[in-house]
Amino acid sequence: YDLIWRRFTACQMAQAIFNSITIDIEARNYSFRATGQILKFDGFLKVYPIKYDETQLPPLEKEEVLEFLKLSPQQHFTQPPPRYTEATIIKALESEGIGRPSTYAPIISTIQERNYIEKDEKRYFRPTEIGLVVNDLLVEHFPKIVDIKFTANMEEGLDKIAQGQRDWTRLIEEFYIPFSQNLEQKYQEVSKKEFTEKPTKKTCPKCGAPLLIRLGKFGRFYACSKYPKCKYTESLPENILGIKCPKCKEGEIVEKRTKRNKLFYGCNRFPKCDYALWD
Ligand SMILES: [Zn+2]
Ligand SMILES: [Zn+2]
Repeated sequence: YDLIWRRFTACQMAQAIFNSITIDIEARNYSFRATGQILKFDGFLKVYPIKYDETQLPPLEKEEVLEFLKLSPQQHFTQPPPRYTEATIIKALESEGIGRPSTYAPIISTIQERNYIEKDEKRYFRPTEIGLVVNDLLVEHFPKIVDIKFTANMEEGLDKIAQGQRDWTRLIEEFYIPFSQNLEQKYQEVSKKEFTEKPTKKTCPKCGAPLLIRLGKFGRFYACSKYPKCKYTESLPENILGIKCPKCKEGEIVEKRTKRNKLFYGCNRFPKCDYALWD
């Protein structure tokens, strides 16, 4: 009861007020900063105390020369920002002015359907190999359409069209004509192979042609360079787990993914041997 009473009373009370002070100290090529805060008025903290730090700074004058007492070298590491979750990526889109409530859900499902990102055990998004390749390609060759400001402006323009304040043909024309010219040019210049194929020293056991490492929707694998004449493919060694197939006693168990990107373990002699294990 005490907790409920305090919480209820606190939410009707005035805000607490802190005085905070920042002092910048110059020392030759370096600058140091000290921050302090002192409680000025406790407000709701009177009935609902929350831990806070109070750091009192000594009273100083502007331009005052300070005495050097001690230098203690210490290394601190800052944490990288955490990866996005569904909730935080929507927040980020919102604050950048990209997407609208009607498009947040399709944006998030599309990048997963295309296998650009996957969720880890804690439901954080992580880019896939194909996601990284697609991103690099877009940033290098289509910098404008992946520019945050451009996209935000476009969304604003579309809103104005919806409200009848702008003519749609003009907006689309301004965007589409330069875009389609750039696209046409990139079709000529950029080859898909550059991003999705790497030569190897291995040869195809079926036809003797060199094998390539190809990037498919679900990661890298060996494929015959004579494709589509020869359809030989093989898992990359990192996917081979070093476990013999218990069914045919000849094949190796490898990590595989279904069309829907579900992980399973199967015999690498498939389709000769159909042994498979599911999580
Ligand atoms: Zn082959
Ligand atoms: Zn087998």
